[in-house]
This record gives sequence, structure tokens and C-alpha cells, in this order.
Amino acid sequence: MSSWGHVAWRLTDAEIDHDDRWGMRCRTGKCTGAAEYATQYRYTTGRRGNTSTSTRHACGKHAKAFAAKNHIEVTESRPESPARRGVIAAAAAAWTDLPESVRVERYGRSGWCLTMRGGGALISGTGWLTLPHHTPYEAVLTAAEAELARRFSVVVTGPWHLDAVRGTTQAPTAQASAVDAWAGKPWQVTVAEDDHGVWEAHMVLDPRFRADAWPLGNTGMNLDRAIRTVPVVLPPAWTLGEWTRHGNRATTTATFTREKNAA
Ligand SMILES: [Zn+2]
Repeated sequence: MSSWGHVAWRLTDAEIDHDDRWGMRCRTGKCTGAAEYATQYRYTTGRRGNTSTSTRHACGKHAKAFAAKNHIEVTESRPESPARRGVIAAAAAAWTDLPESVRVERYGRSGWCLTMRGGGALISGTGWLTLPHHTPYEAVLTAAEAELARRFSVVVTGPWHLDAVRGTTQAPTAQASAVDAWAGKPWQVTVAEDDHGVWEAHMVLDPRFRADAWPLGNTGMNLDRAIRTVPVVLPPAWTLGEWTRHGNRATTTATFTREKNAA
């Protein structure tokens, strides 16, 4: 096995805090030191010569040992690499890949198929409805709208259009948070510990829509630290309100601001 491209760098304060909240320590040998650095190298595996990247978080002592062994310097921040920029570009593209329409068509005797399109392509996450055979068409569309909201936080923004030839019905759609009726409406945020000791922030725009869960940590956590972590894990476009404590839970509101996201 050959290896190359060895690099070691200091993690950001936010990354060090993340590792601490999730109990991620240096695992070099029996070391359990705080993970404050990352070490990385590339290597080939198997007869086909596939290229893989190994990245480990390490304590300062073991990051320095890795650097010395591979004749490199530990840098203060992550070295820029084309691959990483590519990942960021892909994530940015996904953000703009919003649903533009949904098609509802019969599938079998009592099944209905929901297909979403956006950005000129199918959006993964086609939904299914199973309804009694003689369900009126109006009720099918109402059920389709409820399913889109519950599973994808997607709303129908215009009239349903029946294509009698194809036997399909189609309507324009958008993410609920992007349409005027919901834009600027505060989301309800609840911070609590789940049955497995994981602290999470649950965010929901309205009970009819899917709730988003943001994991916060499972090591050395309490309500105070969970509250402090919410603005760390949420994208900067969110503005949080004042927290209200209810025993071992806390609630607040969050408002999404597009201007802040663009800045
Ligand atoms: Zn170590």
C-alpha cells in the first residue's frame, strides 16, 4: 500500500467544540487526549488501485508525531484542496435545487405516486399514497398535499392541472419556507435530550410540516451547553429568539433571513 499527500492541521475552535460535545478523542494507540488536530493522507487499495483518503482527529502530541514521521509541518488551518472546494460547490448547488412541480398519478388499484421535479430534473424522494380504491379525486389531492408537507415541507403554490390524456395531475410547488404565506414566519425550536442521551434541537415551521432535527452532542452536555450550541450548528441565516426553560427542555423561535444568507 502506498500513501502520499500527508497533511496535518489545527481544527477550528468550532470543530474542537464539536468533537468535545460528541466525545470524539484522539485514538492514536490508547491516547484519549482532546482532539484538536486533524491528520490526513491518501492511499491506494486493492488490485484496481482505488484511491482513498484517511482523515483522523488527533491530540497535539500525536499530530506533531504524524508530521515529524512524514516530514511535514502542522499548519494552523486546513490546507485548501480542489476536492474540498468541489464539495462546497455541490452543497451550494443542492441548496438551490428547489421543487418546482409535483405530479400525481395512479399506480395499481389503490396506490398513488407523487413525483417531484425541480431544476429540470427529478428530485429524489418520490412519495407514495395508499388510499381506498374509490377515494374521490379531490380527497386524493388533499392527501397528496398533506404528504408533501409532512415528508418534504413542500407546499402546492397553484391550481392542480389534470392531463386527461396521460391520466396525471400536476401542480407547481415550492419549499414552504420560500413562499409568501410562510416566509418570515418564525419556526418553533425545542432543545431536549432524547432517550439515547443525544441532545437535539427540533425545528418546525408548522405542525403540518416535517420537523428538522439538529444533533447537538452526547458528551458532557447539559441544557446550558445545548442552548449555546444551537447557533453554532445552525446556518448563519437563522436568527434565534429568547429561550424559555421548561425543566430539562428549552424553547425559542427561529427566523430565516435570506439577506443574511447572501451576505
Ligand atoms: Zn493523542
